[in-house]
Amino acid sequence: MAETIRTKVLIMGSGPAGSTAAVYSSRANLDTVVVEGSQPGGQLTITTDVENYPGFVDGITGPKLVEIFKNQAIRFGAKYEFDTIEKADLSGRPFTLTGSKNIYLCEALIIASGASASRLGLKSENELMGYGVSACATCDGFFFKEKELVVVGGGDSAIEEAIFLTKFAVKVSIVHRRDKLRASKIMQERAFKNEKIAFVWNSVVEEILGTREEGVKVVKLKNTQTGEISEYPCQGVFIAIGYIPNSHVFKEQLDLDAKGYIVTKPDSTATNIPGVFAAGDVQDHKYRQAVTAAGSGCMAALEAEKFLV
Ligand code: NAP
Repeated sequence: MAETIRTKVLIMGSGPAGSTAAVYSSRANLDTVVVEGSQPGGQLTITTDVENYPGFVDGITGPKLVEIFKNQAIRFGAKYEFDTIEKADLSGRPFTLTGSKNIYLCEALIIASGASASRLGLKSENELMGYGVSACATCDGFFFKEKELVVVGGGDSAIEEAIFLTKFAVKVSIVHRRDKLRASKIMQERAFKNEKIAFVWNSVVEEILGTREEGVKVVKLKNTQTGEISEYPCQGVFIAIGYIPNSHVFKEQLDLDAKGYIVTKPDSTATNIPGVFAAGDVQDHKYRQAVTAAGSGCMAALEAEKFLV
């Protein structure tokens, strides 16, 4: 049966933004509940090595980092609920958030629900997801030993996935729709130096050919300059084309931009509803780093604390 949980501060999301907000909020002696969401720990849990989070000279794995964040918040009294918010009523306080398990009533809400991997939108991509098509190299790379793979995208994620996949695959081809990568210079250099990585420029995946029984056989590519269609043999396709913010629950109530990011006031995490704050990738389309997410989580908790006085 659904339990009704009352709390001063409810934090939606348990990535770096959510857990940092939880550290600050619980340490300020505010009752704090974190609703972990469908992917507890967020995107970092499907990241391999995090090399640019300050404090870890030799890097740290994504899952380990989120575990540390969580334990630090729990140490100050934050409670974590394994639940996903499905509905929100922000029309009056306390705000009411309905999860798949419990109902939550809170005086202040911090939305740190992050973003989810985008898809190409192909029928074959959906049909073969988990059968040769994947959006997570760390989760599925192991299944592609000695195979030839395609990674779609030109950002840091695509490069990171491709480099990781070279541990298993014999060849990884990065298919990018332009002839310049969006990824950071250091990641580009690593990819260019890696002998197992090839680049297919100015190309988009039109179709993925294969079956659930036998997996992926070929991707059909379209050259974005000439329109020419070609077939590229491979046994696995990894999609790494960016993210969409997890803000749909708030569509009618909060100001969102054209891409669905929650709009916050300048130099603040405040949304258009007093007492509702947004931090991390659900609000930040520019930096999207673990450390910037953590920073905005801290801001949100400090602003929530001030709001509740
Ligand atoms: P991103 O930077 O938005 O890059 C998405 C890539 O996918 C772009 O190259 C884009 O092409 C391409 N793309 C988008 N839609 C497409 C479509 N429908 N078909 C084909 N290609 C498509 O996303 P990201 O790589 O996931 O990175 C997100 C953020 O996380 C960034 O800030 C990044 O720096 C950060 N990140 C950092 C690390 C790290 O530091 N180790 C690792 C992963 C991610 P265009 O270039 O033409 O737009």
